[in-house]
Amino acid sequence: MHILATGGTIAGSAPSPVDPGYDAGVLGFTALVDAVPGLRSVAALTGEQFSEVGSQDMSDQLWLKLAARVNGLFSADEADGIVITHGTDTAEETGFFLHLVVKSQRPVVLTGSMRPATALSADGPLNLFNAVSVAADPRAGGRGAIIAINDDLHSARDVTKSSTTDVQTFVSPDAGLVGTASYGRLRYFRYPTRPHTADSEFTVEGEVVLPRVDILYAHANMPADLVRASASLGARGIVIAGVGNGNVSSEVAQTLADVASDGVIVVRSSRVGSGDVGRNIEMDDDGLGLVASDQLNPQKSRVLLQLCLVRGLDRGLIQDAFYRY
Ligand code: GLU
Repeated sequence: MHILATGGTIAGSAPSPVDPGYDAGVLGFTALVDAVPGLRSVAALTGEQFSEVGSQDMSDQLWLKLAARVNGLFSADEADGIVITHGTDTAEETGFFLHLVVKSQRPVVLTGSMRPATALSADGPLNLFNAVSVAADPRAGGRGAIIAINDDLHSARDVTKSSTTDVQTFVSPDAGLVGTASYGRLRYFRYPTRPHTADSEFTVEGEVVLPRVDILYAHANMPADLVRASASLGARGIVIAGVGNGNVSSEVAQTLADVASDGVIVVRSSRVGSGDVGRNIEMDDDGLGLVASDQLNPQKSRVLLQLCLVRGLDRGLIQDAFYRY
């Protein structure tokens, strides 16, 4: 069992146990593990400090490096399972990226916390205890990347952060939980039905650069020139966090069609937070040359679109990918 510590609130330190302000990612791997009584008896642990960032500073480069490290540990048979401690802000994106590019059936489990390690009722130690229990459990294999937090096990594909401050922040709105964890006692409810990890077509081996994909947030009176700005700054893809069922104003729609005809891939997702975005519902995707995100929120749509572009898929195959993954 190998732990990759990346930073986040779980490694955060505050001036006092009740101070809401804190520095994320300052405690190292050893301090994290030592704060959890009995952790070393759950599994034989190895680990390393992979990075020390609040997850708002996660980057394409860190994702590629993380995927290479996870794949390397598994292919060298140096870990039966891997736990990644991570900030909660972007854990869903890192998790979905790994869900698509890790080439192993072995458990990959992300965890974090909402309260820093120094806080009253810090939630990190139990989350780490449960995450290590999951990663050490062969029954967790074949489910893709899992986010283990606040006694819940979520598929990285389906989970999203829903509250800025609540300890119960992670939800899987359309799909539900993969399982639960109670002081290391684990229950499983389902396997993700869409392809992932070893069954995914996406790889990031070798010299991969993830292309620029921007997310534009739609709203009443959204200025259409943001779309042109994004395209002219080099975005190869644009994800729209649309209103409702991935909608935008007529003016923005026409601008999206213009950049799409220049080769930018435009994916319509939704800012709503749950539900599907279907093709040709209120927007004429066929006529405008757009892709519907199906079930992925904007930040996960961005991940999938980046990987589709690395693979060189055209618009039709990218639409297929959104329906399949
Ligand atoms: N912004 C920090 C991060 O994502 C804090 C959020 C957290 O970890 O809960 O790393």
